[in-house]
Amino acid sequence: MSIPVGWQVDIGLEIHAQLSTQSKIFSGASTAFGEAPNSQACAIDLGMPGVLPRVNAAVYEKAVRFGLGVTGTINSESRFDRKNYFYPDLPKGYQITQMDEPIVVGGHIQITGKDQSEKVVRITRAHLEEDAGKSIHDFKPSFTGIDLNRAGTPLLEIVSEPDLKSADEAVAYAKAIHQLLTYLDVCDGNMAEGSLRFDANVSVRPVDAQDLGVRSEIKNLNSFRFLEQAINHEVQRQVDALTRGETLTQDTRLFDPDRLETRAMRSKETATDYRYFPEPDLLPVKISDAFINDIKDNMPELPGPRSVRFQSEFGLSLADAQLLAGDRGLGDFFEQVAMITGNGRSAANWVRGDLLGKLNEQNLNISESPVSPDQMGALIGLIDDDIISGKTAKTVFAALWAGETTQPAEYVKAQGLEQVSDAGAIEPLIETLLAEHPKQAEDLRAGKDKLMGFFVGKVMQATGGKANPQQVNAMIRQKLSP
Ligand code: ADP
Ligand code: MG
Repeated sequence: MSIPVGWQVDIGLEIHAQLSTQSKIFSGASTAFGEAPNSQACAIDLGMPGVLPRVNAAVYEKAVRFGLGVTGTINSESRFDRKNYFYPDLPKGYQITQMDEPIVVGGHIQITGKDQSEKVVRITRAHLEEDAGKSIHDFKPSFTGIDLNRAGTPLLEIVSEPDLKSADEAVAYAKAIHQLLTYLDVCDGNMAEGSLRFDANVSVRPVDAQDLGVRSEIKNLNSFRFLEQAINHEVQRQVDALTRGETLTQDTRLFDPDRLETRAMRSKETATDYRYFPEPDLLPVKISDAFINDIKDNMPELPGPRSVRFQSEFGLSLADAQLLAGDRGLGDFFEQVAMITGNGRSAANWVRGDLLGKLNEQNLNISESPVSPDQMGALIGLIDDDIISGKTAKTVFAALWAGETTQPAEYVKAQGLEQVSDAGAIEPLIETLLAEHPKQAEDLRAGKDKLMGFFVGKVMQATGGKANPQQVNAMIRQKLSP
């Protein structure tokens, strides 16, 4: 959907990422997903009288890693605050969050638009907080159930500046953050389990207006598609209202994906409504330079620089490099194959083509691939050494995938799949074919090059895919030349 003529759009996202820690942010209770309701919320998560929270060091490690990943400033001293509000899924009556002194301040991330244009989006801050429980409305007719398992799950809330100018840019930004979080093992990125949720702040203004318009905040969008749809519908709603001469008020809205509309939930609360105050049960958290430097030293190469390196070092196209560098495991796999074969382009073609195709088809992660980088490298080596044709290689790959063999070279030998490079064996075949198809042979000689594929295909067929297509091509040309 395009932006209505005469208007411009400003969007800032607040992204809640669940940190992939074993235990909760202030207690030792498990964060595992899908357990029996209320089986893993302990007295601390519920804020029972007399209990005290204690910060899980793992959340700091992950937050710092993210902060370094976006070149933000890491606050050596951060603090927790109480945000007070009443809701059934929050039995404590307050959420512990970071208001004034968050762990990460500033930073930026690069996004790539659909047209390959690049843009830098500024990050305002990222702070740590605890998640609330969940209301379950379809549990019993006319009853609402409360599951507190999620209470106390660590979240990193990542707030962007209002730099995003369309739903497409907002989605590109959300995807870039998702990629970075999973790359750095900060969050598992599992959207179906709610590990990443978006709040979209959206406003519109006439193209020539200097000041930002009045924004609405659309809460709790849990997929890229809903994020895109919600923004587009909200933009249209605001433009329609302003065009009718109405004034907008800042509010908080929910997106209804069935009716494709956003609905007002409440007018916007201000910070005073929440009566923030420093959490009295937790001391300020001081982290040392050594703690930060240790994380810095162990940061992996990030997708952006890695993609640039893949292009220069292995001669990959931008699209191939971005795809392979975008997933840490996939990038590692590719790089190993490229090192083994010394042939980056073939490695890229095989990994992103045949291998990724199979993985996607069977819904497998690269770490679950039945074919190892060594095997893939050996397979490509056989093609590069002219021992098998590309076509035969597909057969060998299928055998590796199915576990029929673990040794490509042995398999090729055992099955007699070596390429026929013996000119003496191929020549009579070519002669027969040219004689059987005189019209096509004549047209090919006259320059109709498309027919080369026809003849090469016939030879490949006759040899069961074992001929070397380049060699066949050269031999046909030689036969036809005067
Ligand atoms: P609050 O504290 O009320 O939540 P913030 O200042 O923290 O407000 O901003 C929350 C988010 O809203 C940020 O991502 C910010 O970029 C975005 N934002 C602020 N003003 C606007 C606006 N006029 N239009 C669109 N987004 C906005
Ligand atoms: Mg906010």
